[in-house]
Amino acid sequence: MIYFDNVTKVYGRDAVALDNVNLGVETGEFVFLVGVSGSGKSTMMRLILKELEPTRGTISVNGVKLSAIPRRYVPKHRRDIGCVFQDFKLLPNRTAAENVAYAMEVTGQKRRAIRTRVPQILELVGLRDKLEAYPDQLSGGEQQRVSIARAFVSQPPILIADEPTGNLDPDTSVGIMQLLHRINRIGTTVLVATHDKEMVDVMRKRVVALEAGQIVRDRVRGVYADEV
Ligand code: ADP
Ligand code: MG
Repeated sequence: MIYFDNVTKVYGRDAVALDNVNLGVETGEFVFLVGVSGSGKSTMMRLILKELEPTRGTISVNGVKLSAIPRRYVPKHRRDIGCVFQDFKLLPNRTAAENVAYAMEVTGQKRRAIRTRVPQILELVGLRDKLEAYPDQLSGGEQQRVSIARAFVSQPPILIADEPTGNLDPDTSVGIMQLLHRINRIGTTVLVATHDKEMVDVMRKRVVALEAGQIVRDRVRGVYADEV
């Protein structure tokens, strides 16, 4: 589903963000990408989205080599990947329902489909009573649920989340991870970048650890850091 084959990413002249990374994520997996700030997690996510090009190596997603995707098909590629960010990125002057509806409108979906789907997906994320709330009337955890609803509303095969609990307290974070887990259980491939150690340890999912742009560990049911 997602393959990195000897991928190196150098920013500018000599800022090596990823150093010969090899990784395979199969359909339906849930993978944590862990590592301290600056280890290269976001760079991997941006490469998957084709927001960046690798300096060396090959990336393929959904059976397609990203280097072979012409520019005009990049938006189509991105529609296959739901994205969740640390800072939610909601439109402040639109309600929860409107934020989710907007994501469907920009991909040209029919009004009737939007009207039925938006309440369904907001119910799925536990926000049935908050359809008309604006982002500033929602807690951080609720805002993140809206952003997950928005990312998942068209059921993309892949969901990537870059530090989705970075702005949330631990209890709220558990709920967000459980939600990502539910989305995974219905068949979505989920990749979560985080340095939230407790979260990774309770979830017992595959953990891929980055250090200075290199994969230093890959465990099937891992914890954040193995004891030494
Ligand atoms: P993480 O998400 O794990 O914090 P990043 O992928 O954001 O790590 O960054 C990896 C390395 O690449 C860091 O050393 C960072 O400073 C560098 N880097 C990230 N983005 C850029 C950029 N646009 N230009 C130059 N260096 C960058
Ligand atoms: Mg990052």
